Amino acid sequence: MPTADVTLDRVTPSSPAVNAVDIQADLHLDTPTQLLRRKVGLEAEGLEAGLPQLRAGGTNLAVMVLWPPREANWEGIVEGLLTTMEAEDRRLDGVQRVGEPAEARAAAAAGKVGMFYSLEGAHGLDQSGVAGLEALHDRGLRMLGLTWSFSNRYAGSSGDGGGGLSPAGRELVMAANRLNILLDVSHASRATTLETCALSADPVLASHSDAAEIQANARNLSDQELHCICDGGGVVGLNFHATFVGKGASLGRVAEHAAHIRAVGGAGCVALGSDFDGLIKVPPELRDASALPALWAVLKGQGWTEEELRGLRGENFMRLWEKVRR
Ligand SMILES: [Zn+2]
Repeated sequence: MPTADVTLDRVTPSSPAVNAVDIQADLHLDTPTQLLRRKVGLEAEGLEAGLPQLRAGGTNLAVMVLWPPREANWEGIVEGLLTTMEAEDRRLDGVQRVGEPAEARAAAAAGKVGMFYSLEGAHGLDQSGVAGLEALHDRGLRMLGLTWSFSNRYAGSSGDGGGGLSPAGRELVMAANRLNILLDVSHASRATTLETCALSADPVLASHSDAAEIQANARNLSDQELHCICDGGGVVGLNFHATFVGKGASLGRVAEHAAHIRAVGGAGCVALGSDFDGLIKVPPELRDASALPALWAVLKGQGWTEEELRGLRGENFMRLWEKVRR
């Protein structure tokens, strides 16, 4: 959409209304699953990334995850999660579905938490295929995770030693490119990640993964994967789950992952994808989304510049998203 682009380029540098607030983005929140299971709203107590926690910690762009569990009517669960979030969007003034980067900036400037949807695993398109992806895009889906913890008909997963992309998977990658949907390789096998990097016309991201050099785990990214994601202009969202963070599972250990991703892929590649509300075991200092400023403080103490921290908090992701939505 070149016309919209030109407008955005012209408006962004000079418009205080658009630039007033930095974006702080969390690229992976399982809150929709908690809302559906517990039949509560985003302002309920006891969530890790409900509206109060997001606000208290400064997050103003929330990627809300539609996750079909292993044993389920996958498309039916996705529909239930999406319907739940659409109802929250209508009911609450404090959140707003955003479909474009400029909308996210406007929502943040208006003091709202922008949100868009991500499908965690293409098994959620098992029956519906590319037509299903198009229908979800119409309802605000802006990110597609190729797999969850098991391989599906499109791609191999890190969870079961799966292979790479199938022919249907290659078609799905190209469909996501056509729809300007972000491709997420967290949970993918190493072969799927490398093949997707090579095939995708747009940069890809790993929304919630740490570094395998710091903590060996199939869910964490090898340096080769970090290179393919970061060198292509993608980002990696730091995951807080103790299993992936590793030894001690502390705030300091999360900072070690951040430092490694920065060393391999550059500061412009580091982002945040906490995995809050995904039944994770979090470092004690990062118990919910309200605690995020503690992470920024630790990184600042380790020499991260303000510019690097702005990038990590959200602007690196915005650069990617703005590129993909063009
Ligand atoms: Zn996940």
